[in-house]
Amino acid sequence: MSDEDEQADRWQHARREMIATQIEARGIGDPRVLAAIERVPRERFVPEAIRHLAHDDCALAIEADQTISQPYIVAYMTHALRVGPNTRVLEIGTGSGYQSAILSELTQQLWTIERIAELSRTASERLRGRDIHFRVGDGSLGWPEEAPFDRIIVTAAAPSVPQPLLDQLVDGGALVIPVGDSANQRLLAITKLPDRTIEHPLIRCRFVKFIGEAAWQ
Ligand code: SAM
Repeated sequence: MSDEDEQADRWQHARREMIATQIEARGIGDPRVLAAIERVPRERFVPEAIRHLAHDDCALAIEADQTISQPYIVAYMTHALRVGPNTRVLEIGTGSGYQSAILSELTQQLWTIERIAELSRTASERLRGRDIHFRVGDGSLGWPEEAPFDRIIVTAAAPSVPQPLLDQLVDGGALVIPVGDSANQRLLAITKLPDRTIEHPLIRCRFVKFIGEAAWQ
């Protein structure tokens, strides 16, 4: 076996261990979500110098002072989003591109926005060949030209639920978003109905700030 094959085997082993001990052990058993995570090589989404930490049970620092989310949080949010093969999904906060990769294993219809150009460029290079639409800009305003979406996922913490994102959901659509201040955040799943929204509080979490016109200024 070549050194490269041996390394690939070690990464695969680390990934399987991560899924078993951090994700399945905490109650996420959705086979489509687990299979998507198993197919994506997380080590390719973290800076070279900390690649050996890629499967640790925590968020990690990436370029431009941002973070790649903890594996469990990525799995949890993906499960909460309930994405099928034809679901139109808008992701806000492309970051490393890892969550985008997982989502693109589940749907062919994915749009992703990042405010930092350098991150968007690196992520789009990592994800070349996948059917994903990238944009650099303020995701708190959504992507009106491509709306409406069935699902919107925000991977940065907002002070409150941005109205433009609710406006860009179909009736029956859902938004998964962390809301709170920098110390205390709660993940929310919000379902949009024709005459109202229903808010389901999920787990506590900690994300970097969602900075934009309809978020933190
Ligand atoms: N999903 C990412 C991943 O898998 O690596 C993690 C994203 S990181 C926790 C949050 C990202 O949201 C950062 O890259 C940050 O620059 C971005 N962000 C913050 N405010 C934004 C905004 N208004 N529009 C788009 N992206 C934003």
